[in-house]
Amino acid sequence: MDLSLDDRLRQRLLRVRELGRSEMRPLGLEADRLGRPLPADHPFFERLVALGLGRTRWSGEGEAGGAGGGGTRAVVQLAEEMAYWDRGVAVAFPGPGLGEAPLLALGSEEQRERFLGPFRSPDRPHWGALAMTEPGAGSDVAAIRSRARRVDGGFVLDGEKSFAANASRADWIVVFATVDPALGREGHRAFVVERGSPGLGNFHVEHKMGLKAYESTSFTLRDCFVPDSNLLAGNDPSARRSGFSGALRSFNSTRPAIAAMAVGMGRAVLDESVAFARAHGLLRSIRVQDRLERMRRKLRASRWLCLRAAWLADLRRENQLEASMAKAIAPAAALDAAVAGMEILGEVAGRGDTLVEKLFRDVKAMDIVEGTGEIQRIVMARRLVGLPRDTG
Ligand SMILES: Cc1cc2nc3c(=O)[nH]c(=O)nc-3n(C[C@H](O)[C@H](O)[C@H](O)COP(=O)(O)OP(=O)(O)OC[C@H]3O[C@@H](n4cnc5c(N)ncnc54)[C@H](O)[C@@H]3O)c2cc1C
Repeated sequence: MDLSLDDRLRQRLLRVRELGRSEMRPLGLEADRLGRPLPADHPFFERLVALGLGRTRWSGEGEAGGAGGGGTRAVVQLAEEMAYWDRGVAVAFPGPGLGEAPLLALGSEEQRERFLGPFRSPDRPHWGALAMTEPGAGSDVAAIRSRARRVDGGFVLDGEKSFAANASRADWIVVFATVDPALGREGHRAFVVERGSPGLGNFHVEHKMGLKAYESTSFTLRDCFVPDSNLLAGNDPSARRSGFSGALRSFNSTRPAIAAMAVGMGRAVLDESVAFARAHGLLRSIRVQDRLERMRRKLRASRWLCLRAAWLADLRRENQLEASMAKAIAPAAALDAAVAGMEILGEVAGRGDTLVEKLFRDVKAMDIVEGTGEIQRIVMARRLVGLPRDTG
């Protein structure tokens, strides 16, 4: 496995480090204290765009490109570094977000150009979003009830979505809906719903225990017309399976990055815990040493899994097992690190105004988003005993 960093990626990591220290960490702490996301018109987002951030990985030629040399491996390493400074602020960054992967996996050239093109060289902040989850359908995505009814020239969508990152500020949202709930996953289709579409509304920012710097939003679709040209993977019968399998495929490319974010957050806990132990004369304590060593060991092993899953993705080789392993193990290691960090800080952590305590609240979500740890374990177990890959 080639893990060498090219110069361009090295420079990008250094820039993230500078930005993280000077802006991301302070903004994340402020959002946590205020209990609300950074507003869409925050000058920080303008600065990011001016720095050339908030762009799509899609170069405009074929599939993903332009990730700075190294494709998914670069994405994974940048994700880890950004989350080290603040994962909530990292998700608030302008860009196509989780909507990019289904567009790359399922979109036609024309659709990629229309929806990802504005993210190639934006002159102001733009966001994209992905809305799969519903009040009654989280892990079991086959249970989604948002309906897509065929009408002349397109579809009419009705339903409720929840916890979609950056949805209320997004130019478009990739929405998964079903043409017939009785068909289960066979009935799923992915639509790009554009901002301002009549019937798209009731945006409500959810109250979260952590990661407060970005908005997780619920919204409704009521008689919302979406033209045929916004249906991903086309409208012909041969694309029947594509909605659901496309979602799964896209998660295999984003899960290693989510897992790497957990590694970054765990690293931040480790560094803070070491600094605290040093400042309080605790580094000679065997109890403290044991906790710090356990944190580093598990985080380092997790990072290798993330990189391996990403490396396979870059080679366009099957990586579902490795993506699930990374996603099952890294958030658990980061949560374990956060618990150990809380123990090292002791009653200081209990005051609720330390970075370690914030990370303790932030990190739990990493085990939940894009397939919980339990679901990853089910996926891996089914592979082990030779059952079909889908859960359910
Ligand atoms: C911070 C945050 C951001 C998010 N961002 C997005 C987003 O941008 N877009 C989006 O669409 N969604 C998003 N989500 C939603 C997320 O994908 C779901 O929360 C997740 O899929 C879990 O679904 P659920 O919360 O309904 O829990 P449930 O599916 O109801 O699960 C509850 C518990 O039961 C366990 N469980 C469920 N099924 C099984 C089973 N078969 N066997 C064993 N255990 C099981 C789960 O592991 C979990 O512990 C976000 C969630 C959070 C917390």
